[in-house]
Amino acid sequence: MPGPVLYVARVEPYRISDLNQFLSSIAKHPRVEITPIGKTAEGRELEIIRVGKADAPHGVFVRARAHPWEAGGNWVVQGLVRRLLQNDAEAEKFLGEYSLYVLPMTNKDGVALGRTRFNMRGKDLNRNWDQPADPELAPENHALEKWMDEMIKTGRRPHLALELHNDGNGMLHISRPPVVDIERHLARMNTFEQLLRKHTWFTEGSTKPTFRNSGTLGEGFLVRYGIDAAVHEFNCHWIAGLQQAPLGKHWEDYGANLATVFYEYLTQVQP
Ligand SMILES: [Zn+2]
Repeated sequence: MPGPVLYVARVEPYRISDLNQFLSSIAKHPRVEITPIGKTAEGRELEIIRVGKADAPHGVFVRARAHPWEAGGNWVVQGLVRRLLQNDAEAEKFLGEYSLYVLPMTNKDGVALGRTRFNMRGKDLNRNWDQPADPELAPENHALEKWMDEMIKTGRRPHLALELHNDGNGMLHISRPPVVDIERHLARMNTFEQLLRKHTWFTEGSTKPTFRNSGTLGEGFLVRYGIDAAVHEFNCHWIAGLQQAPLGKHWEDYGANLATVFYEYLTQVQP
């Protein structure tokens, strides 16, 4: 070891340099717009990638990497964006139905410093979504809220949102807050889950009917913005549907197939 520090990665790493390389590889594509939305606690720039037209009939929002050790989400969104940028009839069909908005790396400070969960002011960026974020303590979430307010004001409220994580189970976390129309939300999430099973290697299933995921982005987006949203975990140890340990390429494949899942979800549900 030439250096004084050893970092041990629990999943295949996806660094800020990997993100920057990815962003510069897509930045000039005519279907892509990359918009800075604010800065992290330590001043790193946060960006949203839009793939598709701003006036597409539907919008899908995906956020990755609120928790720095959970690199899986970055591989997923990379596969998803690349699929939508392929020059084929399917990609064109998908983007006729929706545009995709991705916040690819929420906790950049934590990623830069090899941290595990919190931002540099001690906040878990997948908590406290029941109320507006404190701009001092959670500037990463505040920036996202400002962006979302603008989207809603301009009539572009996303119709579906996913918050990507890694854990040891890999389930879809569907929360059940006491909102009007919760049954409709649960029916839609069931449709989404069935489509994941049909088009990807997803077999892990969703949380029990008593499950409540208070404070997460999934629940907060549903309660505060009326957006059908869920937290999607990816098992960091094992992919049951493939019978193997996950690598970045498996998550990229998953992301590529999510493009189809989103399309079929939106055409079936017509939110
Ligand atoms: Zn997490």
